[in-house]
Amino acid sequence: MKRLSVKLKLTAALTVLMALLAGLLLLFMLMISNQVALRTSMEQLKQTVTGNLNWVEVHDRKPTIGEGFVYFHGGVTTLVYSQNGALLAGQPPVAFATQEDFRNGLIRSVAAESDGDSDYLVMDVWLPSDWEGGVWVRGLLEIPDNHMLTHYLLQIGAFTLPAFLLLTALGSWWITRRAFRPLDTITATAEAINEAHDLSGRIGLPPGKDEFSRLAAGFDDMFERLERSFEAEKQFTSDASHELRTPVAIIKGACEFAEKYEETPEERRETLSMIHRQADNMSTLIEQLLSMTRMEQGTEAFRQEVLDLSELVRTVCQEPHWLAFMQPPVRLHLTLPSEAPVRGSREQLERLVRNLIENGFKYGQPDGQVWITIQCTASEVCLSVRDDGIGIPAEEQDRIWQRFYQVDPARSRDEGAGLGLSMVQQIARLHGGYMTLESIVDQGSIFTLHLPQISSENSSHFM
Ligand code: ADP
Repeated sequence: MKRLSVKLKLTAALTVLMALLAGLLLLFMLMISNQVALRTSMEQLKQTVTGNLNWVEVHDRKPTIGEGFVYFHGGVTTLVYSQNGALLAGQPPVAFATQEDFRNGLIRSVAAESDGDSDYLVMDVWLPSDWEGGVWVRGLLEIPDNHMLTHYLLQIGAFTLPAFLLLTALGSWWITRRAFRPLDTITATAEAINEAHDLSGRIGLPPGKDEFSRLAAGFDDMFERLERSFEAEKQFTSDASHELRTPVAIIKGACEFAEKYEETPEERRETLSMIHRQADNMSTLIEQLLSMTRMEQGTEAFRQEVLDLSELVRTVCQEPHWLAFMQPPVRLHLTLPSEAPVRGSREQLERLVRNLIENGFKYGQPDGQVWITIQCTASEVCLSVRDDGIGIPAEEQDRIWQRFYQVDPARSRDEGAGLGLSMVQQIARLHGGYMTLESIVDQGSIFTLHLPQISSENSSHFM
């Protein structure tokens, strides 16, 4: 049984079930037909006996039987006995046990004299009169022999049951095959994907509400996601190796040059500083890649706490890196509320703010300005970083969040690899928020982080 396919198992189970049901039905029919026959006989007996009662009279202190009295009618034999059991009228059937006691009004079955004969239904009625107190009127009816009916039903069953079971088996097999067809398609698609290592295959069942349609839709969604993440993974690996190859090639070239040719101390210092710069780039790139992967896999420490976003922005802007921009002529402007409580990871939100400020200056005018604003609405805390830089063309605005995407690689060649904004978006999502961008070419850009407001109990310690 273990080796049979589910279709065969279902067919076998349905056939066995139907066989059981058919057997039960046959049994039920036999029982019902016996019951009906018995009830009809009892009714017949009762009617005949009560009809005959009117014709038993006592005249001149002697019991007489009227002419309407029927001794034998519809299988019912009617007899009249004296109080002490002497037969006064009628002829009992030979097979009936005449010593049967009288019981007034009760219909019961009485066994025949010999084993081969049928039993009898007996009904006695006591008819009081002024002759010896009264007489007994007894009705007898042979209990119908149902052997014939049983035999007949069993014969029908013996012929029809195999045909019925064959039809059931064929029907079940057909229904199961039809019902399982979508599953065959799902299995075939999964096998094809597995064998050809091609994730582009889809089951493509027409949409529906049944289980298989939902399963197929679920699988298709899963294949879609797998394909996308597989493609992204491929892209990511090739981009990452490409990005790392450039600084490595520059370093190698510089080393080979230095080994081959005599360099002046001045040239050597320049070579070393170039190597240093490229090593720094690689180290930043590797750090970013690692951090993003860890964030994605949820392995980077992500301690959520309630913190003040205004205070966090002020802290970042106090870092030595930005201090010069905060002094006259001021190029970094802050408009922050006294406090803006949010829930999140300090380290990651700081990283996000740093990235946005860096980009603001990197893609700004030579003396460009950057404005940081925090606004609190009923549902969100919004942190905007605006610059008056080169802006981003509308058609590029969706792509800049992708890893390694750069609108103009020449502009950020030495200072980034196109990972910053992708990380910014990842951090926003991890905090239950999202990023928006408004930008006009040659006028500037506004990057806004939207974070959900935290509940009042969580923010109470700020008040
Ligand atoms: P990177 O700065 O390292 O190139 P990012 O992911 O930070 O990578 O940015 C992706 C691209 O988006 C940048 O290459 C740049 O073309 C564009 N960009 C980002 N910020 C700005 C900005 N403030 N103004 C104009 N363009 C920007």
